[in-house]
Amino acid sequence: MDKNYRAELTGVLGDPVDDNPTGVVEEAAFAALGLNYRYITCRVGINALEDAVKGMRALGARGFNLTMPHKIAVIPYLDDLTEAARLIGAVNTVFVKDGRYIGENTDGKGFVRALRDAGITLAGKTVTMLGAGGAARAICMECALAGAKAFNIINRDAGRGTTLAEAIHLRTKASAAYLPWQGTAPIPQDTDILVNGTCVGLRPHQDDMPAIIYADIHSGMTVCDVVFNPAQTAFLTEAALRGACTVNGLGMLAGQAALNYTLWTGVDAPFDIMKAALKRELE
Ligand code: NDP
Repeated sequence: MDKNYRAELTGVLGDPVDDNPTGVVEEAAFAALGLNYRYITCRVGINALEDAVKGMRALGARGFNLTMPHKIAVIPYLDDLTEAARLIGAVNTVFVKDGRYIGENTDGKGFVRALRDAGITLAGKTVTMLGAGGAARAICMECALAGAKAFNIINRDAGRGTTLAEAIHLRTKASAAYLPWQGTAPIPQDTDILVNGTCVGLRPHQDDMPAIIYADIHSGMTVCDVVFNPAQTAFLTEAALRGACTVNGLGMLAGQAALNYTLWTGVDAPFDIMKAALKRELE
C-alpha cells in the first residue's frame, strides 16, 4: 500500500494559551479514528494575528480555534461567517468550505449539547445568566435559538449587560432583561436554568464564588458553570447543596471540541473518548 506521510494541520491561536487543554482532546480523537491530523497550540499576540491566519492558509490548515484575545479580531481576516457567528459577533472556530475560511462559533452549541446530554430541554425555559462576556453571549444566543423563552442578564458592567439583553431581544424571539449586579445579586425565582458565565471560580482562584444570594437557588433549577478547571466549582457545590441539578463546564468544552472536530475532518467525533481525555487531563 502507498504510504502518505502528509499531516493535516489544525490548532488554536491565542495568548495566553499555555493552560488550554483542547489539543489533548482533539489529538486523542484523531488517534482514535486513525486520522493523520495534528492540533498545534500556538501563542499568537494581537499584532501577529493577521500573519498567523495567513500562515494557516499557506500551510493548508483544515481549520483552527481562536481564543482570547482573537475571537472578534479575527473576523476581518476570514472569507465569511456562519449565521451563528454573525449573531454572536465572535468566532471560536474556523473551518474550510470550498477553499474559503469560514468563521463559526461553537461555544454556545457545546453548552446546549451538554444540557441535552444531562436531559435538560430549553424550549419555553427562563435562563438567568451571570456575566455578559463572550461565553455568556454565545450561550444566550444558542439557548434562544434552541427555544428558551426569556433571559435575565446579571452583569456588573451595565453597558455590556444591556448590550447583551438588547441583542437577544432584537435578534431572537426570546425576551431579555438586564438586572444590575451590585453587591450580592438576588436570583429571579422563575429561573429554570442559572448559568455562571463569568470566570469567577477558575483555578487558581477556585474558592471564589459569584456574589449571589445562594438561598435563592431551589431544587427546581438547573445550575450550570462555564468554568471547567476545576470541573466541580464551589458555585456548583453550593447549588447542589440546595437540591439543584448541576451541569459542569466539561461537557460544554468537550461538546464544542467535538463539533470543531467534525467541521475539520468531516466525520463524527468520538465524543466519549474526547470527554474521557479531557477529564484525565484536568484531574
Ligand atoms: P470575558 O472576558 O469575555 O467575560 C468575562 C465576564 O465575567 C464579564 O461579563 C465580566 O463582567 C465577568 N466577571 C469577571 N469577574 C467577575 C467578578 N468578580 N464578578 C462578577 N462578574 C465578573 O470572558 P469569556 O466570556 O471569554 O470567558 C468567561 C469564562 O468562560 C472563562 O472562565 C472561560 O474559561 C470560560 N469558558 C468556558 C468554555 C467551556 O467550553 N466550558 C468556553 C469558553 C469560555 P464585567 O462585564 O462586569 O466585567
